[in-house]
Amino acid sequence: VEQTLSIIKPNAVAKNAIGAILSRFEAAGLRIIAARMLHLSKEQASAFYAIHQGKPFFDELVDFMTSGPVMVQVLEGQDAIAKNRDIMGATNPAQAAPGTIRADFADSFTENAAHGSDSPETAATEIAFFFPEGVCV
Ligand code: ATP
Ligand code: MG
Repeated sequence: VEQTLSIIKPNAVAKNAIGAILSRFEAAGLRIIAARMLHLSKEQASAFYAIHQGKPFFDELVDFMTSGPVMVQVLEGQDAIAKNRDIMGATNPAQAAPGTIRADFADSFTENAAHGSDSPETAATEIAFFFPEGVCV
């Protein structure tokens, strides 16, 4: 089994969609094995998205990710990384397949409702970023 880091972004939290989104993970067979809700600081958001530093959308991304609380969870299951990204849909919601989280809950390219790790390496780094004490299973 694999683990991945998932974030329900501020726009989706604001539209009261935490439960609807978590239900989709569970319905797909992914288990929520750790979770926390927090309001990211600029420093935390910049550090989390450090790989995008210098890109044209970086400042807007950090402003958005710090605009309200986020729900962060570790999902576990067979092919959890790819499965989560399938359930989320394409990064650009205009290209997200019908029925995906981004098709249903995104407001723009930046405000695209959810984050998911993109490789085993980033999953490990991102899980440690939010759950430095480890997960409880
Ligand atoms: P995430 O890392 O949030 O799961 P992703 O891996 O699909 O999304 P990345 O390329 O890592 O996409 O971009 C990180 C985030 O930055 C995107 O989810 C989106 O919120 C924002 N973003 C990326 N590209 C653009 C863009 N061209 N214009 C506006 N925002 C963007
Ligand atoms: Mg990414």
